[in-house]
Amino acid sequence: MIEKRLEQVYQTIAAAAEKSGRKADAITLIAVTKTHSAEEINRAIRAGVTDIGENKVQEILEKYDDVLPVRWHLIGHLQTNKVKYIIDKVSMIHSVDSIHLMDEIERQAKKHNIQMDILIQVNISGEETKFGIRPEEIPEFLAHAEELTNTKVRGLMTIAPKINTNMSNRLHFDNIREIFIDISAKKYDNISMEYLSMGMSGDYPEAIEAGSNMVRVGSAIFGERNYQNV
Ligand SMILES: *Cc1c(COP(=O)(O)O)cnc(C)c1O
Repeated sequence: MIEKRLEQVYQTIAAAAEKSGRKADAITLIAVTKTHSAEEINRAIRAGVTDIGENKVQEILEKYDDVLPVRWHLIGHLQTNKVKYIIDKVSMIHSVDSIHLMDEIERQAKKHNIQMDILIQVNISGEETKFGIRPEEIPEFLAHAEELTNTKVRGLMTIAPKINTNMSNRLHFDNIREIFIDISAKKYDNISMEYLSMGMSGDYPEAIEAGSNMVRVGSAIFGERNYQNV
């Protein structure tokens, strides 16, 4: 089941990439594994998954030792006091939405003598998702990030509102793509706009067509989430 669904997701990604003039390998698939067991995750890894996403620190810690080698992404809201638990486990934090959090990531990354890659979570829909900074706040954020040594901004992340119509999310995706391009055109120290993380099971083809190069897909691979497991 997982293998079959994964194959379909890869095909859908390839088709959407082609529509936007890119190759499938320009898009990173992050298999979102929240509520799923290490065993299910390992099946996906054996079938080709290289990157997985979890939205809770606790779940990462519970599964970490049982999951095959893979890149872990923290994609959900991160409390400042929990950074220390995952700093040496994840390769990217997608959900950075305060300067305070950025500073704690910097502090912990220094302590471990590593570089942590982060994405700035931008709230493009205004009110519908709770987390993420407003586009107006981005310049202040980037100015702060320029001063960091062990924390590197590598792009933007967004969560589109729950789909009402496809049209409305396309608009959100296009908006953030524009912001992404604008920032890319400017020169900042220590900041590279390489990754635009947007698109989930319900809308990833559309997000890719709008310029996303990192999609976070859960239920389309693993089926319904099983909240009894967490
Ligand atoms: C759960 C989650 C996803 C994946 O959602 P699906 O609809 O199952 O693909 C993507 N991004 C974030 C931040 C999530 O929490």
